[in-house]
Amino acid sequence: MGKLKQRRQVKGVIALAVTIVVLFTAVLVTNYFKANAAEETTNHKNNENIKKAVAANYLNEKPEKELHRKHQEKAMASSRESTDTTSSDIAATPPASNATASQTTPTEPNANQTQPDGAQSAINNKTVFLTFDDGPASFSGEIVTLLEQYNAKATFFMIDGNIRRYPEAVKLMVDSGHAVGLHSVSHNKNAFYASANSVLGELNQNRNTLLEISGIDSHLMRTPYGSAPYMTDEYKAAVAANGYLMWDWNIDSKDWYYKDERYVNSVIEQMNAKANHSGPFVILLHERKETLAHLPKLLDYLKQQGFELKAIDSSMVPVQF
Ligand SMILES: [Zn+2]
Repeated sequence: MGKLKQRRQVKGVIALAVTIVVLFTAVLVTNYFKANAAEETTNHKNNENIKKAVAANYLNEKPEKELHRKHQEKAMASSRESTDTTSSDIAATPPASNATASQTTPTEPNANQTQPDGAQSAINNKTVFLTFDDGPASFSGEIVTLLEQYNAKATFFMIDGNIRRYPEAVKLMVDSGHAVGLHSVSHNKNAFYASANSVLGELNQNRNTLLEISGIDSHLMRTPYGSAPYMTDEYKAAVAANGYLMWDWNIDSKDWYYKDERYVNSVIEQMNAKANHSGPFVILLHERKETLAHLPKLLDYLKQQGFELKAIDSSMVPVQF
């Protein structure tokens, strides 16, 4: 009987021990999974936080145009520092004698920075900037009269000697609300693009002449034949540092080549090919008699298509190649 009791006791102890071991293991396993689950939650939360941070950063990023503008401003600021000493010897001060006080004050070089965005934001793919190069000419008044009939504004990039030759034409442009800008003295590729100093020298002289004749101190400019390929990065930095706003074009009428109404068809074809582009159309024209002769056809088309024909101003971001 005693042996039997002993066996039962041993069995009981073993059963108890097994139960304890099983329970202990169960607790360990449960804790392990709990800990894992907690870690996963933390990881998940961390991932969420990273995602949120990335999204926030993305939202904080400026639109590309804004970035581009900031970049330009930086470039202007740094190039101003680096070229000030070299350009000061040829950067002529505009003459003050013939104009009134308000007209002689040179505009701030970085007009883009200070102007409100209103003018820029009103510009879209229904905006056309007609630009006439190489004038003024004996028939500039006829161009101005025609533009007026269509309630159109335009921009004239003019050569120094022609401004002196036809001062009344320049005054008429200004009085009629058109923009006036610079287009060199020599209009000679080798002379104009010889160095940063030759580029600046011609622009400064051109600007002083325009100011003297019209009272407008314009920093709008177009280099002869456009900025590509002759305007090097150095030249571009130099003109930017002096506050010039360099405008190229995105529609080349080739009016000087066609010399007839084919230039109008060429413009229309190019505009149709760019139907989806977002910015303004900048159309290159010249003050030529043949251009004037077929200008009504172009103006008719642009008006029918609902384009707004505006003058360029210094608050606008220049269109460049
Ligand atoms: Zn030209």
